[in-house]
Amino acid sequence: MKNIVVIGGGISGLTTAFYIKKLSRDAGREVTVTLFEASGRVGGKIWSDKQNGYLCEVGANGFLDNKPFTLKLCDELGIEDKLLPSNENARTRFIYINGKLRELPSSPKDFVFSDILSLKGKLRIPLEIFTKSVDEEDETIADFVKRHLGEEALRNLVAPMVSGVFAGDPYRMSLKSAFPVMHQLEREGNGSLIRAAIGRMKKAKEMKKKAKLEQKKRTYKPGGAAGPGGVLTSFPDGIEYLPRALQKALGDSMRLNTRVTRVERRDGRYIVAYDGEQGPGAIEVDGVVVATPAYSAAGLMKYMDEKITSYLEKIPYTKLALICFGYDRSKIHHDLKGFGFLVPFEENKTILGSLWDSSIFKYRAPEGKVLLRMMVGGARAEDKAMLRDDDLIEAVKQDLRDSMGIEAQPVFIKIYRHRKAIPQYNAGHSNILDRLDRRLEEYKGMFLTGSAYRGVGTNDCVNHARITAEKVVNYIK
Ligand SMILES: Cc1cc2nc3c(=O)[nH]c(=O)nc-3n(C[C@H](O)[C@H](O)[C@H](O)COP(=O)(O)OP(=O)(O)OC[C@H]3O[C@@H](n4cnc5c(N)ncnc54)[C@H](O)[C@@H]3O)c2cc1C
Repeated sequence: MKNIVVIGGGISGLTTAFYIKKLSRDAGREVTVTLFEASGRVGGKIWSDKQNGYLCEVGANGFLDNKPFTLKLCDELGIEDKLLPSNENARTRFIYINGKLRELPSSPKDFVFSDILSLKGKLRIPLEIFTKSVDEEDETIADFVKRHLGEEALRNLVAPMVSGVFAGDPYRMSLKSAFPVMHQLEREGNGSLIRAAIGRMKKAKEMKKKAKLEQKKRTYKPGGAAGPGGVLTSFPDGIEYLPRALQKALGDSMRLNTRVTRVERRDGRYIVAYDGEQGPGAIEVDGVVVATPAYSAAGLMKYMDEKITSYLEKIPYTKLALICFGYDRSKIHHDLKGFGFLVPFEENKTILGSLWDSSIFKYRAPEGKVLLRMMVGGARAEDKAMLRDDDLIEAVKQDLRDSMGIEAQPVFIKIYRHRKAIPQYNAGHSNILDRLDRRLEEYKGMFLTGSAYRGVGTNDCVNHARITAEKVVNYIK
């Protein structure tokens, strides 16, 4: 019987362990999987904390349903009937520009009439069709957007989105690694995103025509499609319901409160040393999946290969604080119809944005109350995440007063700090991954997965975890 160890009980490690067990069972192969998690709970960056009747998401607040990976996992876990799509109201998003919340346009027509960009900024957009490809090896997001859409679109639209998704700095992040779809579109459109979009629309039309013809032959009707950005999806008890369901499915494969301290190779097998509730120990196995953050993986692997460690250490993480404010609904005069808003860096606010969590999902605040969640810090203002609690609370209140006109005092306050929140795919990231892959070829049976590498979103982590599980099952053949 083959033995595999998975290190890290975040969504990446849990999903990898789940699929190794499932795929090997389906293939009629026997394998023992042990998952070591350093802390006393599963989920890692996915953590739904219930406090005084409020449900505070300390990390992710859901996943998008426009990719199939997490939905499929939920289906395989038998929890798809528990899924909770975000409210219809939450499709509207805002950006804070020049002292005012402005609605993000959702169609080209809305864009023409919106006040997100000046007339000059709007007139710059159609000129994108004349953009030429450049020979830049790994262009930053800022350079890419300035080249295609101009400075104002970068400042008011794209940079706030980069801070919303990665808490990142567009002047340092790699377009290719952070937004691979944009990189692909530029190639498809021979330099222009608009040309690529027109090409894709034409193809989609043709496919629709074909599908209609096919449809006539069939008896069933397909379900409605999700919007282009997908619908944010969670569970009534919060997104942590997903890692908990994985924990249940993994049963006695799970070892909580067990920190792996080193991994070494001996005679083609691996020795995994750990420190657990019963003290230190070690286990000899056929394969290892490291599903921890990159900085933690670097520490574990330094006894095995210094080069791998040095590559992993090159992936930086940002500091981020999350501040949850609960209010009496009657004291807030804003209609709170929307997802929330993001703040461009140039507006000089403390918050990167505010998510109106009780508008996005049901069951997030007690009756008669609302819950707002603000992000502070990120790659362009790391120090702010570490402000003293009192200073942080005052600064956040001031920003909510300026942006939403909230004068009321919160009746519930909770602050969470991530010293290393989200990995930053800076220019050169793909180079680091290439080197890691080449070096790992020398260590058959050793695999890396997790948000540090090829996508930070839950869908990307789940997808990469499944791919990793397939590689493991092939390896133990
Ligand atoms: C504030 C925030 C908001 C986010 N919002 C969203 C969102 O809305 N939608 C979305 O899709 N994604 C979101 N994300 C991203 C997503 O949540 C993460 O990328 C994903 O959860 C990372 O999962 P992971 O398993 O790769 O890593 P982690 O969640 O970091 O898990 C790693 C695990 O490894 C364990 N570990 C570390 N070292 C050791 C060791 N030596 N031995 C044993 N165990 C160890 C840790 O304790 C941890 O449990 C957000 C992230 C953050 C931080």
